[in-house]
Formats: sequence, structure tokens, C-alpha cells
Amino acid sequence: MDAFLAADLNRLPELLGLTARQATEALAALDDRPVVPATDPAVGLPPLPDRGEGLDRTLAAFAEEWAPRFSASAGPRYLGFVTGGATPAALAGDWLTAAHDQNSNSGLDGAGQALERQTVHWLRELFGLGPEHTGTFVSGATLSNTVGLAIAREWLGERLGVSPAEDGAGALGPVRVLSGAPHSSIAKALAVLGLGRNALVHVPTLPGREAVDPAALARALSDTPGPCVVVANAGTVNTVDFDDLTALAALRERHDFWLHTDAAFGAFAALSPDRAHLTRGLSLADSVCVDLHKWLNVPYDSAVQFTRRQDLQARVFRNSAAYLGPLGEHPDLVHLTPENSHRLRALAAWFTLRAYGRQGHREIVERDIACARALGDRLAADPAFRLLAPVRLNVVCFTLAEDPTPERLAALRNAAAAEVFVTPTVLGGTPALRAAFSNWRTTEDDVRRAAEALRTAAKGLVCPPSPSSRSRPWPARRTKARPTRPAGRTPNTSRR
Ligand SMILES: *Cc1c(COP(=O)(O)O)cnc(C)c1O
Repeated sequence: MDAFLAADLNRLPELLGLTARQATEALAALDDRPVVPATDPAVGLPPLPDRGEGLDRTLAAFAEEWAPRFSASAGPRYLGFVTGGATPAALAGDWLTAAHDQNSNSGLDGAGQALERQTVHWLRELFGLGPEHTGTFVSGATLSNTVGLAIAREWLGERLGVSPAEDGAGALGPVRVLSGAPHSSIAKALAVLGLGRNALVHVPTLPGREAVDPAALARALSDTPGPCVVVANAGTVNTVDFDDLTALAALRERHDFWLHTDAAFGAFAALSPDRAHLTRGLSLADSVCVDLHKWLNVPYDSAVQFTRRQDLQARVFRNSAAYLGPLGEHPDLVHLTPENSHRLRALAAWFTLRAYGRQGHREIVERDIACARALGDRLAADPAFRLLAPVRLNVVCFTLAEDPTPERLAALRNAAAAEVFVTPTVLGGTPALRAAFSNWRTTEDDVRRAAEALRTAAKGLVCPPSPSSRSRPWPARRTKARPTRPAGRTPNTSRR
């Protein structure tokens, strides 16, 4: 054994203690360190060490060279994208995932699989899904959407008497995927699946909303020859709008389509009795995407994919090898996702659900919603800003009242980044910013700090507004409809 490796094995308890101390210090600093440190010169590319230096020196090197560059994305004022942190139990579960390093994809060594099934069962209950939905862990909502649409692709094949998994996506002929305001990952999934980004047909949304217009969807379905796919959106990233999931599911009485619902973070509305109505009808979907590294507050990377047709899922992803055996009624995980080997992702989710239960996670969700409301109220009352949409759940979509150019918004973001991190977007043609609340640590005091940092940054903007700009407060602009896009084109406005 290499001398450093042998020495580390001898000192393992002490070294893991040092690691835990470094982690504890990083977590303790989250409240006060810059949320996103100022960018520094490009890092070098030193040669691969020929002889190593052991774990304790490597810990010191990491603490000096890399940790200070990292953002406080696990902390309470990192409001960019939709980014959760890691609850104490989720973090512990993640550490133990690596410690046990399970090969959890087959029943030949099945405890990891059994733990995943138990965790999926809990998640189903959390989101109000029934036993007709089976679930599988994947690395994120993008992969969850991809797997859901892969099952949809096989379902289209079943309708047409072919199998895309066997004969290729070309066997289907042209495919249409209808959606109101799909996340960018839907187009990516279609590219990966050989259906093509141009398969996506943008259906008009309700006036001033990101929710699809059910009447427009019914018309688009009537215009679609043969079976197709509908992607419902339960929580859009810009304004957290929800399609009417029950109305969409009811359209299946007259039209033949697979209903996939992207509820990456919107599914968590089900935890709040006040907001649960937004997710009504979620259980009617044929496949559902839910992210866990966002609002469940487990570490990256974790999401779950639910479906009513695990048989089709296994038809797509089955991996035959002499040592794996037949599929059976409960196929091994190796037959259900693009991955064969993968870490025991479910363990962090199992830990946090066991440690805090439904009530604990409901409290996180409701506190984040309250924080988003509070920030929305503060920005609405501040003449420097205007809201571009009401705060429906956990995201505040806002812009500068004066001359909201991408350049001025970028300057604002940078000026505030030590105290609060928000990300850019475009809503209905207007450059804007989003502040998304999904961290378990965020409190009203963080809202106050964030609002103050944004106000100070807006005051200090060096590029003055252009003389032509006028302040128009929401809701005067609320009724401005999203520009309709030609069918088959993909907008690039919705990031995560
Ligand atoms: C974040 C998000 C995704 C993509 O999730 P990843 O975990 O980044 O792959 C997809 N859809 C929606 C609605 C999201 O918010």
C-alpha cells in the first residue's frame, strides 16, 4: 500500500474528525461570508502530483486554495436559480452515502434498492401521489424530465405499434410535444431523445400569465394528428405559475396524449395547506418530475421521476447482461434509468424525511414562501424597483423601475453579490431578476439584508437611466401578454 494511503488508514478517525471540523467551520461562516465572492484571476493548471502529500495536507490545501472561492450557495441569501441547501440530517445522510459506498442498482445486493423504494414511498405521500406511481431516483430534474419523456416516447410507440427503444425514434415519424411555458431542460431532453428540439410546440399562455391556456391547448390538440405528448408545468421558474393540472388531465377524454408534469420545485406547494390547491391534479399525470436538491434541501445531485408505466420505463432502460437476470415485476434500478451504477442517492432524502418528517419540511416550505412574500413587499414599496408578477410561491420576479437594461441589472447583481445572489431572466421581453427562496436556513432577517443590499446597489448604479425611460409600477404592466411564439421555436428565457 502506498505510504500515504497506509498512514491515512491508520489515522482515519482523526482525519475524518479534521474533515468534520472543516465542514463545520464552513457552515458556521455561511451567514457572514460573501454570498458570491468577487471573481479572482484565472486559476492555474499545476501538473498532476507524482507523489501525493496525504489527506491532512490536502485538507489544508483545499481550505486555502479553493474553499474561499466557493459561493455560500448552501446558505440563506443565495437566491439564484432555485437552489436549496442541505439540512443537517441530509448532510449526514450524504456523508454516510459515501462512507457505505453502496452499489445499489441490483437485487443481487439489494438493501440499497430497498431503501430507495422506502424513500420513494415517503415522497409519494409527501406530494399526494398514490401507489399507481412508481418512482426512481435520478441526478436532477433535467434527467427526471428526460426519463419521463423517454417513457412518453415509448408510449407513443405503443400507440403506433412500434418500439422506439428497439427501432429508434425515427420509427415514430414526426412527434409533437405541446407545452405553455416549458423549462429549458424539456428542449434538451427532446434533443437527447432523438425527438428533436423542434418537436416542442409552444401553446399560448393565459393573458399576463405563464400558465397554459387550456382552451388553446385543446385547439392545439385538435390540430395534432395522432397521439402526442403534453408537458404540464407546475411551478415555472420566472413567476412560479401553475398550469391547471386537473383541466389538462381532463382533456385526455377527447384527445390521445401522454401527460408529463414538470413539478421540479412546484410539487412542494403540496406541503402547505394554503398552497396545496396549486398542485391539485398532480396525481393524474402519466409521469412527474420532482427535484430534491432544491426544496427538499438534500445536497446535489438528487431528483425523482414518477410514472404510472414502469413497464414502459423498463422497456426503454433495460440493461441485459448474463449476471443481471430477468426483469420480473419489480425491475432492478439498473433497468430504470440511463445510469447503470450510481450512488445511493436516496439516503440523504431518507435521512431528512426521517429526521424532520412532513411537519419539518412543511415548516421550511412555508417559511420560504413567507420570506418571498416579504421580499416582494419590500421591493414593491421601494421606488427603485417594480415587481413583474405577484409572488405566487417562492420566487420574486422584479426589475429596475428605471431603464432595466441587462447591463444595469448585471451591475446591480454584482454590486449586491456579497450580500445576496439573484439571477437574471427575461419576462415578456423585459430584462429582470429572480430571487428564489428554497433554503432551509433563510429567515426574515435575511430578507431584510437582501432588500437593503439591493436598494444600496440600485442607488450606487453608475450607468444612469436613459432619458426616455419612465417608471411604470406593477400592476400597470401586468396585463402585457407574453409575445406568442411561432410553433416549434424554443425560447431561451427560462433558465432554472
Ligand atoms: C430546476 C428545474 C429543472 C432542471 O433541474 P436540474 O436539477 O437543474 O436538472 C427543470 N424544471 C424546472 C421547473 C426547474 O425548476
